[in-house]
Amino acid sequence: MASSAPQSAQPVFRFAPSPNGRLHLGHALSALTNERFAVEMGGRLLLRIEDIDRERCTPALEQALRDDLAWLGIDFEPAVRRQSEHFGDYAAALAGLQTRDLVYSCFCSRQQVRAAVAEREARSGQPWPVDPDGAPLYSGTCRALDRTNAQTRIAAGEPHVLRLDMARALAAVGGELSYVVFDEAGEISTLAAQPARWGDVVLARKDIPTSYHLSVVIDDALQGVTHVVRGRDLEAATDIHVLLQHLLQLPTPRYHFHELLTDDAGRKLAKSRQSESLADLRVRGVTAAAIRERLGFA
Ligand code: GLU
Repeated sequence: MASSAPQSAQPVFRFAPSPNGRLHLGHALSALTNERFAVEMGGRLLLRIEDIDRERCTPALEQALRDDLAWLGIDFEPAVRRQSEHFGDYAAALAGLQTRDLVYSCFCSRQQVRAAVAEREARSGQPWPVDPDGAPLYSGTCRALDRTNAQTRIAAGEPHVLRLDMARALAAVGGELSYVVFDEAGEISTLAAQPARWGDVVLARKDIPTSYHLSVVIDDALQGVTHVVRGRDLEAATDIHVLLQHLLQLPTPRYHFHELLTDDAGRKLAKSRQSESLADLRVRGVTAAAIRERLGFA
């Protein structure tokens, strides 16, 4: 059975950005919050590059984010884990879950999933449930496909994803799941994890042999991370991470979710929204000290 990460050893923190765009102030807040906790708790601070998306992540963007972090003056340990160098670790975990029949191949396109959901809604007259990010839960069409049929389609080169069979996964765990969060003062409390609200999540994508959820859980364990500090936007996803930790018999770190920065219109800062980058601020003459001060780390 999974366990909590050992708390007597030296705490291990990590900042885990994706080099798929330039870092903005929200990333600085996350990195600096990790740094502050690591200093306060006498912990180690690791940098992990989350670059499983080989199309959107580039070496130039990785270099740029490392330059931004160096400019901010954040002291990470020199050894960096780059997820793209560890696809074998993720494949091994998936193979284990496959052997236990906890994942299945799904051949549905996004359009097919949408159509299946619309059809169910029309039939039942009820809205179809959505996950915490607002996406409709998977309709389950491929869950019942027999394995031989699925193997034939895979052998014929049909694109597919691997989904977690949520009902089977919950049955394999066989009880309530929870995890420990810590606040600014280091006070801890326990939260219930509710992975069922995510449905049959994708654990390996069509174009990428893993997913954010799977890689993050495996890497946190392999790097001995005891404390995960990240934005509130990833709080709900932690349900899936705690479930995967139990299924894979990995320790569950403690978690802290910091508030998110918003722009003038009240929207969360995002690379996809072209939020002003740290590099833009630097060009405008803003200093690293001013950024630390603005974010409350002076
Ligand atoms: N790589 C994720 C991001 O860039 C963060 C992962 C995490 O902190 O768990 O948003």
